[in-house]
Amino acid sequence: MKNVVLIPGDGIGSEITNSVTTILEKAGAEVNWVEKSAGLKAYEETDNPLPDDTVEAIDEHRIALKGPLTTPVGSGFRSVNVALRQKFNLYSNIRPARTLPSIDTPFRDVDMVLFRENTQGLYIGKEQWVEEADKERHSEAIAVVTEKASEQIIRAAFEYAVRNERKKVSLIHKANILKLTTGLFLEVGKRVAEDYPDIQFEDLIVDNMAMQMVMRPQQFDVVVTTNLFGDILSDLASGLVGGLGVTGAANIGDDAAMFEAVHGSAPDIVGKNIANPLALLFSSLMMLEHIDQHQVAENIRKAIYKTLVEKKVYCTPDIGGKGTTSTFTQAICDNI
Ligand code: NAD
Repeated sequence: MKNVVLIPGDGIGSEITNSVTTILEKAGAEVNWVEKSAGLKAYEETDNPLPDDTVEAIDEHRIALKGPLTTPVGSGFRSVNVALRQKFNLYSNIRPARTLPSIDTPFRDVDMVLFRENTQGLYIGKEQWVEEADKERHSEAIAVVTEKASEQIIRAAFEYAVRNERKKVSLIHKANILKLTTGLFLEVGKRVAEDYPDIQFEDLIVDNMAMQMVMRPQQFDVVVTTNLFGDILSDLASGLVGGLGVTGAANIGDDAAMFEAVHGSAPDIVGKNIANPLALLFSSLMMLEHIDQHQVAENIRKAIYKTLVEKKVYCTPDIGGKGTTSTFTQAICDNI
């Protein structure tokens, strides 16, 4: 049995985590859930959106599955998601985007995995106002790219390609303009690629990449990029296969990993039993693969695909079904 910290989170979090734990249990996953709190509910109860015992549990068990957390806009606390990534140096954000049966999108046969550097770039939050003699309002932001962090994420992408028999790694940058920051990322990528002669390597400028992804997304296999570009392109990749409700995500470092749904806490549908559990479920399959329970993950994936084909009856309304979270969960369990 593997201990995994389970953070149900806010809003629809408990509805979708109940669904996921039911399905994993039915499939025989060897997981012992250690339930902890974080987010708005934790803040209201303990005055801390990331209570110490939650951090201590992740510190001890090193793996977490996390539902969505409500982050108040403007005032209030800072993002728990960002705090967890920094605290455990979860430098790889991994987002697969794969075409699903019976989900209507203009794109078929998409199967790409995007690796986003999770700790640097423009997202380090170093912004400041600049005093100008003429009093015009003027702000600036600093992007940080280090050789070490670039090598970590690029190597993680290549290692993933090797482990999963993928053929190509595409590195996305803007080195024609941002010559020092994304230029360094590209330089490191070219060097790392030499260690993987069996994997094809290419680099694309980010604006071209955005166009290529909607013209012919099937050409991409494993993609690696810096923080800001990865944030945007990973949502674009999700959009190609049905949106944030059907794509999972992982944040992985050298000795800790957190798997999460990428959508939010969906306050508009809380308690209606119509939340789609698929995003968190796909994240939990990445978790099972991470802890070497590949067969269980594969059995669940097949059961999801089978259920999607029958979708009108059992699936949640957001993907065109007539069912509820409960009927969707039950149908997947029945198909395992
Ligand atoms: P949201 O993702 O919660 O909702 C956007 C729309 O998508 C809503 O109509 C919602 O009903 C729908 N939706 C989302 N998940 C769904 C699911 N599983 N099944 C069916 N429909 C689903 O985005 P929002 O409304 O902008 O944000 C609400 C709260 O969530 C905010 O506090 C925000 O900060 C937070 N948030 C958290 C995360 C995270 O924890 N990773 C990510 C995004 C937003």
